[in-house]
Amino acid sequence: MKFCILASGSKGNSVFIESAYGRFLIDVGLSARKIEERLQSIDVDAAAIDAIILTHAHTDHVRGVGVLAHRHKIPVMAHPDTLDSITPLLKPGQAVVPWHQPFQVKDLTFTPFPLSHDCQPTFGFVIRENSRALVLCTDLGVVTEGVREQVRQADVLILESNHDSDMLFNGPYPWELKERIAGRTGHLSNHNAGELLQEILHPRLQRVILGHLSEENNTPELALATALEYLGSAREGMVEVIEQKTVSAMYIL
Ligand SMILES: [Zn+2]
Ligand SMILES: [Zn+2]
Repeated sequence: MKFCILASGSKGNSVFIESAYGRFLIDVGLSARKIEERLQSIDVDAAAIDAIILTHAHTDHVRGVGVLAHRHKIPVMAHPDTLDSITPLLKPGQAVVPWHQPFQVKDLTFTPFPLSHDCQPTFGFVIRENSRALVLCTDLGVVTEGVREQVRQADVLILESNHDSDMLFNGPYPWELKERIAGRTGHLSNHNAGELLQEILHPRLQRVILGHLSEENNTPELALATALEYLGSAREGMVEVIEQKTVSAMYIL
């Protein structure tokens, strides 16, 4: 399996995944045109996407889904409640595939796991090809035992490291918004992410990609430095930070 993060952050999220037999997008949080451009930049035609899979119905994850899915006749797969929420975005006749449980598309198995977030429901995913697992875990306010259990399976982990708590609370946001972001249904701070990494670190974990960074309340340098406080500086080579405006490298696992 290989994958590329097309966008990550509060202004839009999307991950491209390619297996031996299929091509997938998780979330379409930019406009369809921008997603097409970003796919072109990695030599992928949007028409070659086999399925769009959604984590939750927040705009930064579904902004372009209706247009992209319609234009290229791509089925949209999501939890039934997420499909209900995004119905206004979808064009008439759009193919949708509701799931309740772990599901298989082509040669990949997607195991959704619930996240505590202010959009019901929200899911992370364990994505498996044979024995290899990519885990996507962003948009959560608190780490539960269930989340820890899933994240432990990762060979490669994409983890939210949304904000630096000091920057958030000393920053310009109104108090209610600060509380929302830092609350149990908001977003993980750099320290929350670091603690989780320390807890789940295991020899098979080969790479950690920190994402969904706030542009106002975080910097890539702070996110990385905080993760390394927990993991130890010797692990610098395994941790990377993804910024909103750039398309990531193509990772192979
Ligand atoms: Zn988000
Ligand atoms: Zn969200």
